[in-house]
Amino acid sequence: MARYTDAVCKLCRREGTKLYLKGERCYKDKCAMEKKAYAPGQHGQSRKKPTDYGIQLREKQKTKRIYGILEKQFRLYYKKAHNMDGIAGENLLVLLESRLDNMVYRAGFATSRAQARQLVNHSHFIVDGKKVNIPSYLVKAGQVVEVREKSRGNAQIKASLETSDGRGTPEWLVVDKGTLKATVNREPQRSDIGYEISENLIVELYSR
Ligand code: SF4
Repeated sequence: MARYTDAVCKLCRREGTKLYLKGERCYKDKCAMEKKAYAPGQHGQSRKKPTDYGIQLREKQKTKRIYGILEKQFRLYYKKAHNMDGIAGENLLVLLESRLDNMVYRAGFATSRAQARQLVNHSHFIVDGKKVNIPSYLVKAGQVVEVREKSRGNAQIKASLETSDGRGTPEWLVVDKGTLKATVNREPQRSDIGYEISENLIVELYSR
């Protein structure tokens, strides 16, 4: 699948907020947003007032970039969210938050969602005792995700867990660092997301 391969810090600068795409670096002074908190490019510091469409588009791009989702799949999530009971925008964020790669990141087994996606792809995790290597797999309340026996010495997972306290664990997860297990104790809710996302703008954009 095609993926964004340019410097990811440019994405944060473009969206004007930290998207936490680069692991530990995002929590340090080296973060590009600490030094150059303006859009990249020649006209980065002199942008015109955005239109309503521009604002909606940026909100959608920001959300896609946080979760590392490409347009086609993001639209499918929106469609699914729209067909679910409840508020479409909130449903969308809950679906994104329930992805296995996001859960692995939130549990502290990876320092970024990109790293989590790679670890899942490489079959380092089991869900309820079964190997799952699909990053988009949606976890449900009661499920247990654990590091596979053969992956318990994985240097990336170990290093990530050493610094995970600083990143915090959301309330919908219970993590046991000793047994390398994370339990989904309930479905994530809108209040668990922790990013400044105006999901109503995304709904407005797709409703045009
Ligand atoms: Fe974004 Fe992280 Fe780069 Fe900072 S270090 S600009 S938060 S990706």
